[in-house]
Parts: sequence; C-alpha cells; structure tokens
Amino acid sequence: MNISIVIPLYNEDESLPELTAWIDRVMWENKFSYELIFIDDGSTDDSWLVIERLKEKFQSVTAVKFRRNYGKSAALNVGFAMAQGDVVITMDADLQDSPDEIPKLYNRIKEEGFDLISGWKQKRHDPLSKTLPTKLFNSATRKMSGINNLHDFNCGLKAYRKEVVKNIEVYGEMHRYIPVIAKWAGFKKIGEQVVQHYPRKYGETKFGMSRFINGFLDLISIFFVGKFSKRPMHFFGTMGAVSFFAGFLITIWLLIQKLSAISSHITYRDVTDQPLFYLALVAIIVGFQLFLTGFVAELVSRSSTERNNYQIEKVI
Ligand code: UDP
Ligand code: MG
Repeated sequence: MNISIVIPLYNEDESLPELTAWIDRVMWENKFSYELIFIDDGSTDDSWLVIERLKEKFQSVTAVKFRRNYGKSAALNVGFAMAQGDVVITMDADLQDSPDEIPKLYNRIKEEGFDLISGWKQKRHDPLSKTLPTKLFNSATRKMSGINNLHDFNCGLKAYRKEVVKNIEVYGEMHRYIPVIAKWAGFKKIGEQVVQHYPRKYGETKFGMSRFINGFLDLISIFFVGKFSKRPMHFFGTMGAVSFFAGFLITIWLLIQKLSAISSHITYRDVTDQPLFYLALVAIIVGFQLFLTGFVAELVSRSSTERNNYQIEKVI
C-alpha cells in the first residue's frame, strides 16, 4: 500500500463526506493505493454515523471510535499504530487542509528521501488571535529544538516515512511538536512544504487559548525529556538539593562562629542578627521545595498513566 491517511476528528460531521470524496478523487487520479483511517475522538455529533455510511461507499475507509474525547495526540497515536502504507499522511478533518497536496508530499518522502515533511500554512486563513500566538510558539519551538528550517510545526498536514510513525509516541498536547519528537527519535531528514490552507467551512475550532498554554508546558517538558534523558526533573531535584545543603552549611558555619565566640568570651552578633542567616533560610526552604518538585516529577514520569490510556469503543 502506498499511502495511509490518518485523520483525527472531533465533531466534524458536516465536513466528512466532502473530505472523503475529495481524497478518493485525488488518490484515484494519481493511481495510489491507499487507506483512509478516521479516528473519531469522542464526537458528540453525528460524525460516527457519517463515517459508517462512508465506509459502505468507500472501501478504503477504516475507523476507530474513542469512548470519549482524549485529544488529537491520542487519536494520531492510534492512527499511527494502524497505518500500513509506506507513507503516512496526517490531515485535519475540517477541510482546512487540501488533499490536493498529498501527491507532492508523497513524492518528497519517496523520491527525495525525507523522513518527515511538514506542511507550512504560509497564507493562513485564521483569525489574528490564533495566528499571533502561533508565530511566537513557532519561533520558541525552533530555538528549543534546533530545527531551524521549519516555520509551522503545528500544521495538521504532514507526511511521514512509515518507520517514523512506528517509532514515536504522541500524547498530551504533543501533536504540535511531532517534528521535534521525530528528531529526538533519530529521524533527521525533516523538511517543509508550503501548502494551501482554507478557512474553516463548517463547525468551529477546538483549540482555544487554554490548549495553547497547555501546549507550551508540554514543549518545556519535552525539552527537558530530550535534554535530561528519561529523568526530566532530576535537574530541579539536583538544584533543590544543592540549594538545601548550601543553606544548611551556611547555618552551621554561623553557629560554629557564634559558639566559638562564646567559648572564647568574645561578644559576637547572634545568628538571627545576621542577614546571611536569612539568605540561608531561604535557600533551605526553596531547596527543599524544589527537591520535592523533582521527586514528584520523577514519580509522574515513571508512571505511564499520564500517557495514552484511551479506550476504544468501536472499530470498523
Ligand atoms: N481534533 C481532535 N480532537 C480534539 C480536537 C480536535 O481530533 O480534541 C481534530 C479536529 O476535529 C480537526 C483537527 O483535530 O480535525 C484540528 O482541529 P481544529 O481544526 O479545531 O484546529 P485548528 O485548525 O483550529 O488549529
Ligand atoms: Mg482547523
């Protein structure tokens, strides 16, 4: 099979028939053998019903229904596990991404040997409240990841060599940084392709400001995961321990000075009269808290409950 198209969706019933017919036409015209994998991320509208009907008409359709809404990353993760094509394409379900781009993306993987090609919505049809934070997000991601040739990390339209999707795990809000995750997994040939972007035709966006902030926290966490291997927060724990012991040693030193002054009958300021003591106190308290933060983070990073524990309701 040439191509697997993975489409995560949440309440997109109006777009699906048009999208499926459009994809099928492009695949047919280019003589690609393909599968179309829909992941219904717990839609509460008629999306699943629509998909069931589409499956009767298009043999290429496969679909998974989540028991509830688990997020775009979980949906992509399932799609990646199912995909059988040599090249895996991801795209959004809302007709903002154009299936006409697929042949170009396919060729860049197949003929130019890229591991991953990320779409670039150069002319974006979204409101400023979306495009502005995205600009900031993209430049921060570029700096932190060292992937300097990408302008648009979060574009839903991307193409992957099959091995890439089989060797990465996506969870939380990480669907925004798949190129970064791929790079850390050792896939270095990452490129970009300018793609068409349309305004949303039906329904409304599912990504508001709060998801944006969550995404930013995820970026920071994967930065640490990458830098500090499997123990992201050892860094904080270590800093905490250092600060705690520095404060402790300073206090001991002040006490020794006071005690030796007493024993040699010299008048000397009380420990509590010295500014250094308060600095030491702060170092001890802050250090202890940082150390606990590191410890808790360690526990969290060791439990996998944070990750993909979605439940699948149906597969067709
Ligand atoms: N989506 C999803 N689960 C969610 C939110 C969104 O599967 O919890 C899908 C959504 O249906 C669409 C894609 O992810 O196919 C991108 O979402 P959206 O178009 O709302 O994002 P935007 O284009 O506004 O960034
Ligand atoms: Mg959209």
